[in-house]
Amino acid sequence: MTAQFATESSREVIRLLEKAGYEAVFVGGAVRDYVLGKPATDIDIATSAQPEEVKAVFPKTVDIGTEHGTVLVLMNGEPFEVTTYRTEGTYSDHRRPDEVQFVTSLRQDLLRRDFTMNALAMTKEGELIDLFGGQQDMSRQIIRAVGHAADRFQEDALRMFRAVRFTSVLGFDIEDETFEAIRDHAQQIQYISVERLKAEMDKLFKGENPVKAFQFIQQSELASHLPLFPPKMDVLNQTSPFETAIEGWACLMVAGDFTPADVAKAYRLSNAEKSYLTSVHQAFAKRSIALYTLDDYYAFELGVLLLVEKLVHAKGRLNQELSKVEITSAKQSLPIQSVADLAVTGKDLLTWTGLRGGKWTGEWIGKITMAVLHGICENNPNNIKEWFLHEFNCER
Ligand code: ATP
Ligand code: MG
Repeated sequence: MTAQFATESSREVIRLLEKAGYEAVFVGGAVRDYVLGKPATDIDIATSAQPEEVKAVFPKTVDIGTEHGTVLVLMNGEPFEVTTYRTEGTYSDHRRPDEVQFVTSLRQDLLRRDFTMNALAMTKEGELIDLFGGQQDMSRQIIRAVGHAADRFQEDALRMFRAVRFTSVLGFDIEDETFEAIRDHAQQIQYISVERLKAEMDKLFKGENPVKAFQFIQQSELASHLPLFPPKMDVLNQTSPFETAIEGWACLMVAGDFTPADVAKAYRLSNAEKSYLTSVHQAFAKRSIALYTLDDYYAFELGVLLLVEKLVHAKGRLNQELSKVEITSAKQSLPIQSVADLAVTGKDLLTWTGLRGGKWTGEWIGKITMAVLHGICENNPNNIKEWFLHEFNCER
């Protein structure tokens, strides 16, 4: 039998380490997801070989964290993180071990991992190594800390947020003792960097059950120690699951009556993410008081229009709810979807007028766009030319 989830190249990495006299196994999320029948993401390998020894076995490696024991091995062009078995020393800052020690036993390595489902290992032959009852917890759909939960969260506060994130991604519950420990240590989440919280939130929003995760965040009181969190998340019931993480962020913004700037600042969102939130914010303000206009259908992307419709409805501000089909067909039946669909370009304006390009060109393309959008002139060069020259000469 072979570990079916693993690619040929990943098994080759293990085979070569074994051939050199070391132990090596698959570990972490890939094993968990395989047992759950989900597609594997990144494949991590743990080994008894020291980082220098790993580097000596493979012709192509990249140092990505040798001090923590991790070497990136490139096998047939595929990258694999190979990490030396290790334990972690004391944690004085609630987020990183003061030092890591390389060890020779897999058991010690698995002991440092956060949850029983994440402390599984698998040999290249596909034999599961389950020292802490991970399989049973998974079959009961339970997230349980490895060892004493309180100590584990005291060491690294991010683990509390990982637990919550997994409730959304997997739809699992948190085991009682583990949950109580989260409640007791909730305020230590403040030691975790915003970037790491943001990355977990993104995964949470992409999960199948964000509502569940948000309930845990509230009940455990993690909510009051996060950079920004709405007091109520009712809108999530009607808007999740989400296609993308940014839709989740938009819901968080609307649920808490926050501005795009509030959310972007608190969680260091990218400019692209912030501009999506700005779109939602504007569309929400408009749709809260009236039906979408032609200009709204043109200005906002379909995803924003659909999400905002649900949000406005969830917030109880809806005058008349539109279906997905109605919104989609209204958007699709616009004469043009963007300026790129116009039958003319700025160049045509120059030809027709004999003038040089300038600020006026862009302004007139804007006016033509509106005229076409509102059916004042048809989207073909002749009609546009006729309409344009008439309007242009009137203004001069
Ligand atoms: P994902 O599917 O999102 O990648 P993952 O569990 O694989 O989830 P990774 O960050 O890839 O998450 O970590 C790989 C493994 O490393 C985990 O499965 C777990 O065994 C261990 N691990 C990661 N973060 C921690 C942590 N903060 N504390 C203890 N163990 C951790
Ligand atoms: Mg992973």
